[in-house]
Amino acid sequence: MKLVRYGPAGSEKPGLIDSSGDLRDLSGKIDDLDAQSLAPDSLARLGALDASALALVPGSPRLGVPLSGIGKIVGVGLNYADHAAESGRPIPDEPILFAKQTTALNGPHDRVMIPRNSTKTDWEVELAVVIGSRATYVTEDAALSHVAGYCIANDVSERDFQIRRGGDWQKGKSCDSFGPLGPWLVTADEVGDPQNLRLWLNLNGETMQDGSTAQMIFGVAHLISYISEFMTLMPSDVIITGTPPGVGAGRKPPCFLAPGDVMTLGVEGLGEQCQDVIAYSKSNSAH
Ligand code: ZN
Repeated sequence: MKLVRYGPAGSEKPGLIDSSGDLRDLSGKIDDLDAQSLAPDSLARLGALDASALALVPGSPRLGVPLSGIGKIVGVGLNYADHAAESGRPIPDEPILFAKQTTALNGPHDRVMIPRNSTKTDWEVELAVVIGSRATYVTEDAALSHVAGYCIANDVSERDFQIRRGGDWQKGKSCDSFGPLGPWLVTADEVGDPQNLRLWLNLNGETMQDGSTAQMIFGVAHLISYISEFMTLMPSDVIITGTPPGVGAGRKPPCFLAPGDVMTLGVEGLGEQCQDVIAYSKSNSAH
């Protein structure tokens, strides 16, 4: 099942993409796609619906973040060996975790803003994991049963804020519009094995990243189990699982985003995102 939220920012409605690729309205069935509707019994009820009986949504409305009420976004750093190497960092012994604040969230095709005083805004295509049920001290074997679904994340990052400005990485990870998520939340049953998905990112039509989740150092099940040792994962929390090589900071010479650039990115089975890059503008901020 491919679940979406559509409509203007701040007033999105829930929907689903049917087997023909058409958008159907779910607002008569659930209030929103949120922690409650992502619970296993609720997803089972939605999965049993006859999609063809739901109203077709006319036109091509904007798509928003495919779930609301995200409590936290847990970032995983340097989770692909070749990306650690291009970042000049050793392969981590344990997952590196960082916070990406939820005000960074953005629709999958919304514009990405280069923040004020930025010189090094960069891209990172990632597999995002959406938690469906509460997870505390879960074993690796049980971990995937806590996943509601998956989507694409662009973990947009300002390298100078992230590394040179001190503290942990969140200064470079949390700027407004740095968290495009979507277009769809694809339920775990439809994705199958999360460790065999191609993921890629093009900048202005040129391939920058082209990898596979098979190359992760720490797989999704291990990450959920590991993170749940340190914090409780709640329904609608999101884990972004790290990026393959090919980020701007790793290129020779380094290359960063500028207004007018266009990013296109995808993860196998999870659709595509596309973002125009613009300078920071308060009127373009979701807040
Ligand atoms: Zn990342």
